[in-house]
Amino acid sequence: MAFEGLADRLQNTIQKIRGKGKVSESDVKEMMREVRLALLEADVNFKVVKEFIKKVSERAVGQEVMKSLTPGQQVIKVVKEELTNLMGGEQSQIAVAKRPPTVIMMVGLQGAGKTTTTGKLANLLRKKHNRNPLLVAADIYRPAAIKQLETLGKQLSMPVFSLGDQVSPVEIARQAIEKAKENHHDYVLIDTAGRLHIDGELMNELKEIKELSNPEEIFLVVDAMTGQDAVNVAESFNEQLGITGVVLTKLDGDTRGGAALSIRSVTGKPIKFVGMGEKLDALEAFHPERMASRILGMGDVLTLIEKAQANVDEEKARELEQKMRTASFTFDDFLEQLSQVRKMGPLDELLKMMPGANKIKGLNNLQIDDKQISHVEAIIKSMTKAEKINPEIINSGRRKRIAKGSGRTVQEVNRLLKQFEEMKKMMKQMTSMTKGKKKGFKFP
Ligand code: GDP
Repeated sequence: MAFEGLADRLQNTIQKIRGKGKVSESDVKEMMREVRLALLEADVNFKVVKEFIKKVSERAVGQEVMKSLTPGQQVIKVVKEELTNLMGGEQSQIAVAKRPPTVIMMVGLQGAGKTTTTGKLANLLRKKHNRNPLLVAADIYRPAAIKQLETLGKQLSMPVFSLGDQVSPVEIARQAIEKAKENHHDYVLIDTAGRLHIDGELMNELKEIKELSNPEEIFLVVDAMTGQDAVNVAESFNEQLGITGVVLTKLDGDTRGGAALSIRSVTGKPIKFVGMGEKLDALEAFHPERMASRILGMGDVLTLIEKAQANVDEEKARELEQKMRTASFTFDDFLEQLSQVRKMGPLDELLKMMPGANKIKGLNNLQIDDKQISHVEAIIKSMTKAEKINPEIINSGRRKRIAKGSGRTVQEVNRLLKQFEEMKKMMKQMTSMTKGKKKGFKFP
């Protein structure tokens, strides 16, 4: 996961100060020394680190902390607030033009993920905001870019405007906007040309497109894995072209996080979205506060809830809950539950959003393999209807048959049956524990 090293170090540091009833200046100094090292090691820009440490130190030895009843907690609150400010405070929205279509220029260097992000953004605009975007293939220099965007358009069943690679990008943009007006598209996403390095020719072309299309947003796509290079690229693009926001891609990789923490301070422009994978639904709005919370091990419950709301069928969830309460939970229900959870994304990523997850030993190294879940699904699907409802009837002959049918071993079938039995037992216990107690019980 991104930020892992930084998160570990910061969490260890704040752990030391958390319970303190008194915080002295030298405690703060010691803590800031560790925070400073942690940030530098995460490849955060050194000027940004300096400024951050200064702000936190001032506040931490100030009245708001020293006079509070829980100074330790208060210092952590200050760190969290300043970390949030560093990444841009409030989450920013996408602008809307007074008169449609709203034009968004997508810019960036080759390989950063610009074309993929154009497709993801179109998907997000339609799915979450009910918009009807037109994709525009204006990267005429990278031979495969037009084809790539067309393929993405096909996958999304969305139109892609292209005039091949012999017409100038400025002309393509002009005609695309006309077309969007004719066909009532409310957004136009222009996938502009990338280069390996920033050069004058590229900038001139982008400036021309900007002048002509009067975009509401210019999103710069940068690769989080490139660390401070991404920050430098952002600075150059902002100075030369003027950008309105940044999309930070590949945050699903194990980047140290320096780019995410430096871009806003260095360029003054916010990170608006983050790419969390190669698939078309792997683009998330960037929430600085939630990210700060995740880095400090306080979990990201809001994102978790949003994911659940977007993917879990409430009706079915209620039915399942009822079944759990009455312990009439069958293998079919189990399968249903698995498929609902799976829709929310990789399980290990979800677990890490739980508050306190960092304290669960080994979670960081835990790799929940999607394949394992597929194996469980295969085993359940090889059961007969009667077996799924009444697993007790599954004798050794049936176990062999199920193993064969699912392509798994008898041991795996045995293990699943045992786990299922234990789960049901636990459900029974929980139901009897909560019986009569309307308020439910507290989670540890
Ligand atoms: P472009 O040259 O900037 O248009 O880059 P592409 O859109 O072709 O992307 C380059 C590579 O990065 C492709 O293999 C993408 O699948 C991959 N990519 C883009 N965004 C992400 C992301 O958020 N996470 C991961 N893991 N890969 C990404």
